[in-house]
Amino acid sequence: MLQITTQRTTTPKAKPDESSLGFGVHYTDHMLIIDHDEEQGWHDARIVPYQPLELDPAAMVFHYAMESFEGLKAYRTPDGSIQLFRPDKNAQRMINTNHRMCLPSLPVEDFVQAVKAIVSFDQDWVPHAEGTSLYIRPFVIATEPHLGVRTSRTHKFIIVCSPVGAYYSTGINPVKIFVEDEYTRACPGGTGFTKCGGNYAASLISQVKAHELGYEQTLWLDGVEHKYVEEVGSMNCFFKIDGTVYTAPTVGTVLPGVTRMSCIELLKHWGIPVSEERLPIADVMKASHDGKLEEVFGTGTAAVISPVGELRYEGDVAHINNGEIGEVTHKLYNTLTGIQWGKLPDELGWTVKVD
Ligand SMILES: *Cc1c(COP(=O)(O)O)cnc(C)c1O
Repeated sequence: MLQITTQRTTTPKAKPDESSLGFGVHYTDHMLIIDHDEEQGWHDARIVPYQPLELDPAAMVFHYAMESFEGLKAYRTPDGSIQLFRPDKNAQRMINTNHRMCLPSLPVEDFVQAVKAIVSFDQDWVPHAEGTSLYIRPFVIATEPHLGVRTSRTHKFIIVCSPVGAYYSTGINPVKIFVEDEYTRACPGGTGFTKCGGNYAASLISQVKAHELGYEQTLWLDGVEHKYVEEVGSMNCFFKIDGTVYTAPTVGTVLPGVTRMSCIELLKHWGIPVSEERLPIADVMKASHDGKLEEVFGTGTAAVISPVGELRYEGDVAHINNGEIGEVTHKLYNTLTGIQWGKLPDELGWTVKVD
């Protein structure tokens, strides 16, 4: 159990217009910080006014990417209450990430307590408009000023929160995806399964390339053979081929998404066959030409479910479901968003109230 002190801002900001929130543009009035050092462990948990951090320019996070992060949301339900979606899964994933990155972790209960505390303190910032939510960004940074390469002796765990808009303000439009066959996101033994800034820094060049070619996102192939599909940008990826739904196994190179896990559980619950065997991109393109590539979609906290309308791999283009959202994609979207925003009964016990 954390002891969290609070200091309320004397200059609250005006709330942004809920009809044009965007993603990660606005921040709430407060943030949560917990310090860590070798002697005291985690200490001085506090909620303070949102403000810039003061760090030594030699802080290790700036030089060696010693950082991890998480992403989850708080949702406003029809009765006005606020709930989280499976926050214990984010807490456990951050422990797994931090272990790989030699960063210290909060126990699951303390992570969830910290998330609840900052959301509750800034509860007026959880927006009410349809499809909006409060995006929560916990992160850990190595703060020790030291240029030698080794683990850090001091860290901070911080949570900032951002009210975000309906991801699909103009309806769910399928995205066009470029299959990356030159750059690599993750390799066995690397950090692909972790949520760390370094993974993203190294992936931007492919995003720039995809944009130049008129595509919105990159589909990554495995780093060894460039043969099997792994994930899309910041989303896991699913392919429905001839009645079976395929998604890459989370064996070290793929981020184990909470949305991915929830989709797999729902699909199994509905009796739809799911395969987590590795899927060659060649099989996806062949299925498309044989008329058997029925649906493709990405999954992640930000967009929930993002239908894919087009895949380009080398010279070949697959058009999926006439650019329309598929039946299973739609059902997953409606079910997950229904549970998250408290409009459908939460039979699987996935939501956690914030009081
Ligand atoms: C966060 C993330 C996802 C999606 O995970 P969710 O828990 O569903 O939000 C997928 N891929 C990558 C690379 C990510 O960083």
